[in-house]
Amino acid sequence: MMSKAKVNFPRFGSYNVAARHIIKNGLDCDYIDAPPTTKKTLELGTKNSPDFVCTPFKYQLGGYIEAIEAGADVLIQVGGLCRLGYYGELHEQILRDLGYKVKFVNMANADFSKPMTFYDEFKKLNPKLSIKKITSACLVAVKMVEVIDKIEDFIRENVGFEKEEGSFDKLHTEFLDDLSDVNDKKELNIIYKLYMKKFKKLEVNKPKKPLKVGFVGEYYTIMDPYSNHYMEKELAKKGIVIERWMNVSNTILNCPVKEIRQSIKNYAKYDMGATAMYTIKKAIDYAKDGCDGIIHVKSFGCTPEIDAMPVLQRISEDFKIPIIYFSFDTQTSDVGINTRIEAFYDMIMMRKEQKK
Ligand code: SF4
Repeated sequence: MMSKAKVNFPRFGSYNVAARHIIKNGLDCDYIDAPPTTKKTLELGTKNSPDFVCTPFKYQLGGYIEAIEAGADVLIQVGGLCRLGYYGELHEQILRDLGYKVKFVNMANADFSKPMTFYDEFKKLNPKLSIKKITSACLVAVKMVEVIDKIEDFIRENVGFEKEEGSFDKLHTEFLDDLSDVNDKKELNIIYKLYMKKFKKLEVNKPKKPLKVGFVGEYYTIMDPYSNHYMEKELAKKGIVIERWMNVSNTILNCPVKEIRQSIKNYAKYDMGATAMYTIKKAIDYAKDGCDGIIHVKSFGCTPEIDAMPVLQRISEDFKIPIIYFSFDTQTSDVGINTRIEAFYDMIMMRKEQKK
């Protein structure tokens, strides 16, 4: 009997639970999780990457090497709206030059408007693939992503006010563990309802009008907590509500691209690529919604988000809302980030007091 392929999907926020479901239940392959992202991941990625490539490339490369060391023999590469779409080939060449003999499946070759192209890519992993099985696994995985996003939205709204330190984090871990055992949509709905209830029951001490900050920026950096140095956690510790629209549900599954383009036309006539358009749209929304400030995050050298920055500056002036910019590279230190967050917090707090 042929042994099953051992497949890795790059680490990305909490979404690996959904990737795991497709790989195990839809493709009938073994899933190999890369170890959690650490300094070592970044060092491995940086050592073997071109110097000026953006940090998501380095994180992914480091993660691939760790996944291979953990036993993966197939690596899934993902596409993207910018140069991320070309990263697959480059990662593959670097890993081959390093002597790793693994198989690659590049999802950048698939097209969202043609679902069968995904089937063709998946078939490379399991030639006996059942279309029924993979379709049903993908539908469950999509639902999983939506459920993860809903739960995490609730967490961002409330975690800063938890009475028992770490209670939200602990429940979040339990939720993801239980989610990974789900087999179908029915079980998924049960888990979702159960955990939403549990989250709502956690005790919080939330003021009527807490400080509220909008979080915008580059796709990977904003959604990968290690990449942004756990900024959401730092903000929550200060008792701040974090508004973050950017997630997979909003940007891939249900994204109203045309409406977004139309609604920002006074600020940006042309699409600047990747997530720049969403960054602008959400900055305007957060300013209108009465957020006390906006935080913009990106990787060093991220061209689309660099292009969005002058537009953000205009939004800041038009709506009189402070915006702070963070650019992350492999040398960024926690101390520098925390000092700037501290200063930003003091400033938005003082502004709020003055407005009273
Ligand atoms: S959006 Fe920016 S950081 Fe992300 S992959 Fe593209 S260039 Fe790199």
